[in-house]
Amino acid sequence: MLLLIPGPVQTRPETRAAMAQDIAPWDLDFRAVYAAIRERVRAIAGGREGEHATLPLQGCGHFIMEAAIRTFVPPGGKLLIPQNGAYADRAVRLAGEAGRQVVALPGPDTRPVTAEEIAAALAADPAISHVAMIHNETGSGIVNDPAVIGPAVRAAGRRLILDSVSAFGALPFSLADHPEVDVVVFTSGKCLEGLPGIGFAVARIDRVEASAGNAGSWSFDLSDVYQHALKAGWGSFRFTPAVQALAAFNVALDLYEQEGGQPARHARYRENARVFHEGVQALGLTPYLEWRHQGPVIVTVHQPADPNFALQPFVDALKRRGVLISNFWNTKVPTFRVGCIGAVTPEDMRGALAAMGEALEELGVRRRAPA
Ligand SMILES: *Cc1c(COP(=O)(O)O)cnc(C)c1O
Repeated sequence: MLLLIPGPVQTRPETRAAMAQDIAPWDLDFRAVYAAIRERVRAIAGGREGEHATLPLQGCGHFIMEAAIRTFVPPGGKLLIPQNGAYADRAVRLAGEAGRQVVALPGPDTRPVTAEEIAAALAADPAISHVAMIHNETGSGIVNDPAVIGPAVRAAGRRLILDSVSAFGALPFSLADHPEVDVVVFTSGKCLEGLPGIGFAVARIDRVEASAGNAGSWSFDLSDVYQHALKAGWGSFRFTPAVQALAAFNVALDLYEQEGGQPARHARYRENARVFHEGVQALGLTPYLEWRHQGPVIVTVHQPADPNFALQPFVDALKRRGVLISNFWNTKVPTFRVGCIGAVTPEDMRGALAAMGEALEELGVRRRAPA
């Protein structure tokens, strides 16, 4: 089966094979592996030794994002969230339920937020300490660019929390260029092509040290993760981790380096997205985003108006042909989404387009423009 979803992604057989072992997380051999993973990940983030630390947490992206908000935004503090997509909606809910005051900056999910919009919102409310931004909005496929937004946050003297869950490792980003970033978060199972199970934060050490006592949670306190590392070593976890997922992630990092790191991965995903964005139009379908706003992670497509089209039967027809896409959508109008990330190539995307053409024929979908 070819998995074309934005996480968990299609992985390489070598990566999956690394899971087929029993491991004691505190075993000294494994501690060395885990400590090395933390350094490798900090390097990919463009972090510097002594200035940035990798602070992993068991679980999914929502967990690491909640931990970042709880740790860096003080209790009752205020943060600005550019709300231009489904994952931004989730960040709004996470922050609100953690008792932080959210100032939402609503925008369409068809284009990135602009530096002017951020600057105006920050100027209007000096009580906002942080901006929490979704890097790649996995609901539609747009990219909010930290190279554009970071300077506006910096100029306003505020801090940035970056949800780079579906972008990290593929889209260009370096902490070294962004002193305004307190923390960037991501997971093992998206663009780094590992299995799901671990969330990562790479954070500024000075800011982590200043945030002790903020979290109001032991589990979700990144400053406690940091303090634990200082006491027990960088190879130690506080609680039982998804240790097989970590072993697989280590192999995934080897493959990442062999491929050529971020520039190579970005180029492959970009080409996947280009092939797909063009290919659906050749099938008579309409992409949700204009090409100039289309990121390399997912391509979202309007559902055709033809009454013969329904999403689940379409997904089923594709699955019978060996291609699995999401059976839900995250935009305000009906769409379907196709992941361009993971161990998939432009050739795979062409194969998926052929399968899509057959599936539409099988269902008798002739009017393919959106309603
Ligand atoms: C995948 C994703 C998350 C986290 O999703 P989980 O299901 O909790 O792993 C968060 N933010 C973005 C932008 C994502 O793409």
